[in-house]
Amino acid sequence: MLKIIKNKLEQGCKTSAYPKQPIALYERFRGRPEINRSCAGELVRQCAEACPQDAIDAVSGRIDLGRCTFCGLCEFLSKGEFVRFSQDFSLGAARREDLITDGTYADLAAHAKQHFKKLFGRSLQLRQVSAAGCNSCEADTNVLNTPFFDLSRFGIDFVASPRHADGIHVTGPISRNMKAALLTTYEAVPSPKVVIASGCCSISGGPFHGSDEIIGDLNSLLPVDLYIPGCPPHPLTTLDALLKFFK
Ligand code: SF4
Ligand code: SF4
Repeated sequence: MLKIIKNKLEQGCKTSAYPKQPIALYERFRGRPEINRSCAGELVRQCAEACPQDAIDAVSGRIDLGRCTFCGLCEFLSKGEFVRFSQDFSLGAARREDLITDGTYADLAAHAKQHFKKLFGRSLQLRQVSAAGCNSCEADTNVLNTPFFDLSRFGIDFVASPRHADGIHVTGPISRNMKAALLTTYEAVPSPKVVIASGCCSISGGPFHGSDEIIGDLNSLLPVDLYIPGCPPHPLTTLDALLKFFK
């Protein structure tokens, strides 16, 4: 017992002070893109052609964060002339159109549904559904339960049964095989319920976009309330989106 207490005292508190204090991410993290709107059209076209996700509109220079995997190719090709990825991990959006950006971003908190804040602001239970994800989105969601992030201190938990949940958190491109299971899980959640699309796979199909084996766009099956882009979304991106939308 004494050993345990000594160990605890030596280790101290490992939980992050975020969101009360800012948190620094590693240098190579790619967050919100800063887009140069006066970039030469030819350079934008080259980046659009090279983008493996067809996420860049060659004419307007807008980037669809619901498709982008944050691979960094456009920043590399344009040497930062067209786009630079910032360290800002705040990427969540309440509307699909807000993910298509020219470098300006809508305020997620301002578009959050007030009745959800009222209902789930103090306690939110989510059922995670991996609809054919590659396991990275799932692993980075799981990280939120570690002592560093300690998600449950915000009253947010992942639960085993959809009947105990207030909504579903969906990852993966929704393979045809997973469609029925996803819809059954959604039906089992009592109303009112929330639907969260996490990762570019569940928003647009991600790297599997165009495959006949997937549904791709969760919004075509269920009404999505919150979009969390990334491939996978950083745990802080998920935490930030959940806090802004529900708190
Ligand atoms: S970072 Fe996004 S927009 Fe840029 S090339 Fe990669 S997928 Fe396309
Ligand atoms: S969004 Fe990326 S990390 Fe997440 S399931 Fe799809 S491929 Fe994997």
